[in-house]
Amino acid sequence: MSIEPQEKVDVAIIGAGVVGLFIARELSRYELKIMVIEKEPDAGWGATKGNAGIIHAFQLPFNSLKGRLCLEGNKMYDEISKELEVPFKRLGLLLVSINALESLMLPFVYLYFKLKGIEVHLIRNVRKIEPNLNEKASMALYFPTAGVVSVFDLVNALVENCRENGITFSFNRKVSGIEEKKEGYIIYTDKGSVEASWIINVAGVHADEISKMAGYGGFAIYPRKGTLLILAGKRLYNHLLAEMPLKTDPKTKGGGALLTFDGKMLLGPNLIEKVSDKEDKSSAPGDFDDIIKKYQRLIPALAKVDPLVIYTGLREASNTNDFIINIPKKGFMNVAGIQSPGLTAAPAIARVVVKMLSEKGLTLKERRDFVSQRKKRKKIKELLDDINAIEELVGKEPDYGEIICPCELVSKAEIANAIKEGHNTIDEIKFHTGSCTGECQGSYCLVRILDAFTELGLKEVTKKGEGSWIVRRIEG
Ligand SMILES: Cc1cc2nc3c(=O)[nH]c(=O)nc-3n(C[C@H](O)[C@H](O)[C@H](O)COP(=O)(O)OP(=O)(O)OC[C@H]3O[C@@H](n4cnc5c(N)ncnc54)[C@H](O)[C@@H]3O)c2cc1C
Repeated sequence: MSIEPQEKVDVAIIGAGVVGLFIARELSRYELKIMVIEKEPDAGWGATKGNAGIIHAFQLPFNSLKGRLCLEGNKMYDEISKELEVPFKRLGLLLVSINALESLMLPFVYLYFKLKGIEVHLIRNVRKIEPNLNEKASMALYFPTAGVVSVFDLVNALVENCRENGITFSFNRKVSGIEEKKEGYIIYTDKGSVEASWIINVAGVHADEISKMAGYGGFAIYPRKGTLLILAGKRLYNHLLAEMPLKTDPKTKGGGALLTFDGKMLLGPNLIEKVSDKEDKSSAPGDFDDIIKKYQRLIPALAKVDPLVIYTGLREASNTNDFIINIPKKGFMNVAGIQSPGLTAAPAIARVVVKMLSEKGLTLKERRDFVSQRKKRKKIKELLDDINAIEELVGKEPDYGEIICPCELVSKAEIANAIKEGHNTIDEIKFHTGSCTGECQGSYCLVRILDAFTELGLKEVTKKGEGSWIVRRIEG
């Protein structure tokens, strides 16, 4: 039996991962009432949180949906990063041969990519540009369009820009049921119900369950774990590196010796299949050794480098092993199975989604006041070349001059602003300000962040929401 819904929208997007957010932004160009419903306290905490930030140059097979949308999405990142003011660099990928067989195959692989229209160069003495590569490394394929983006800056920028364009976000709200009405749907959640003319299901590893709630069970999601290592210390390479794959190792397939947008060395991800718990993001004891061993083949000196942090994400692989974008019934759309290169393809997916919605009857009337340019509030760390700007900020608000996180140069004012904006878990503070992500991994700044919470009158603090208490008031 249905009850009167609390809110009514034209489009409800279930899932605030990078794909849901790009779709929301694309739809905010039109006169529509849109709500994004997300079960976590903030955006990007699903597969998006666990990714490597690579904007891939290509994805095989080329004729798959993921292959085509990867190429399109890659091209869109220059404009997106300018509009949203998000750090993005085309570092280029070197696919390196380190044995005779790989070197023999490389020219053929080069021709294959050329024929497919991919920008690629054959490099004969690769150690000239990457001297720390294995001594046996000789040739490489260079893909200059491969890049790296700051994923959390991107996610935060998308949310800000969507909000500026009138989109409502409903966080900490889990969808538990869907009822079809004569016109549209009622979405049941743990915080009341919402009526929507259209639902877009972008719920990541849970997309198959949401689809079943709407009466369509046409696919299944099989999560696959991927663990990544961020390393401490001096950088040993300047491009994204991967070994020419001849045969894939099922445990460490894919990935590379990568870099984060701010130049830290990032290795992985590996691949663990048959994951039964869709929320299990734990790393296994063997992951670290497997990953180091694999990339030591490329850069032997990696064996001596200390790890900074290890993290695991869940790829939302589907039974088709490709992206699933369909409208199985009126008013309901699935955007599912968005495994890698989903981050790369996300802006192109959003365009496809809007086109399909329009073809299936969603009225799209362009808004005149759509704001494409996000107005970014610069971080202290980004103002280091502009001492006048820092002086002006500190003059207005002295707490900008008190550095709470010395590794990543985050000030007390930036932490307090994030808390005042409603980010009241440690992970939100981390992903909005960059604190706790540097060399000390929070051992210096965490206690000072807790002080900031206390100063603002918050007496209970969690790491990532209900059940992960760091400070909790016990009654009695
Ligand atoms: C280890 C790893 C490395 C990767 N590296 C790269 C890379 O370098 N480059 C690249 O292009 N791609 C990469 N990817 C792939 C990329 O991260 C994903 O394709 C992309 O993040 C998918 O985004 P999404 O929005 O579809 O899903 P998600 O980010 O998972 O978002 C889905 C959201 O739905 C929410 N949700 C689920 N159920 C409910 C419910 N019942 N009610 C409300 N909300 C719900 C979830 O909380 C989640 O926030 C990587 C993936 C992994 C796992």
